[in-house]
Amino acid sequence: MIYKTLGNTGETIPSIGLGTWAIGGEESPDYSRDQELIKLIAAAIDMGYTHIDTAEYYGAGHTEELVGKALESFDRSKLFITSKVWPTNLSRERLRRSLKGSLKRLGTDYLDLFLIHWPNENVSLSETLEEMSAAVDSGYVRFIGVSNFDLALLKEAVASSREPIVCNQVLYNVEDIAPRRSLLPYCQEQGITLVAYSPVRRKNLTRIAKSVLESIAENHQCSIFQVMLAWLVAQKNVIAIPKSGKIDHLKQNLASTEIRLSKSEIAQLDNLSR
Ligand code: NAP
Repeated sequence: MIYKTLGNTGETIPSIGLGTWAIGGEESPDYSRDQELIKLIAAAIDMGYTHIDTAEYYGAGHTEELVGKALESFDRSKLFITSKVWPTNLSRERLRRSLKGSLKRLGTDYLDLFLIHWPNENVSLSETLEEMSAAVDSGYVRFIGVSNFDLALLKEAVASSREPIVCNQVLYNVEDIAPRRSLLPYCQEQGITLVAYSPVRRKNLTRIAKSVLESIAENHQCSIFQVMLAWLVAQKNVIAIPKSGKIDHLKQNLASTEIRLSKSEIAQLDNLSR
């Protein structure tokens, strides 16, 4: 595993974490596969995933419950848990309640990282960030960050937050390259971690991307999804949080950090969506 520094904190974070969207439901809870999914998350932790990304929104809280159940048999201090507050809960009072709910469902006293899931222009960003900073003061949260913030909003968050903004979690993969224009360079300059979500694009690839990825995958005797992840984690300040419901895919994704792409392979991938 390759570790990266989280923001400017000095804390390290694995370059591959575990995504949990659609584990235990999407917008509403799905209780039909609980035991299987708790085992899946526990198996992922056993094989070396220590960063788990979740959110109060996922499965309307049920995903956090499943993660919480899976965590029970592990040493909490060795894990790094991220959760996110939904944009309708960004006012001071609602955020406090929302964080309490996430901690309860996760069965933990603290989050390692607490993110604003999406911005909400109807709530003052500084009010939200002040409440998140207060949660750090109280020990309920170790670090704070944002998700789906464009460059202007990220700069506003950085300028108005008492606690450092350690990351911005955004859509980023070989085909969705918008962050490369100005967001990623800014994060790299400022020492902010860019957490790439949907890093294997939920397997929806154009024919051209697929064929370039296949030829590179052949050079390394690996899968195209591993190439996609290797490309991301080779970039300064970037980590990725792929999601999989299959043990062999989870293993593959972890092992992608061992793949060393050549300069010309990286250039081919950099140019895929230009
Ligand atoms: P993703 O990780 O790009 O794609 C997940 C899909 O890819 C699954 O269907 C999985 O299928 C497949 N997959 C993963 N690894 C594979 C492999 N090695 N070989 C073959 N198929 C593979 O998409 P995502 O779930 O949207 O994003 C990842 C995580 O980011 C989420 O789970 C969530 O935690 C986070 N996220 C955050 C936001 C936000 O707004 N902040 C938005 C979206 C996602 P199998 O189950 O068959 O392996």
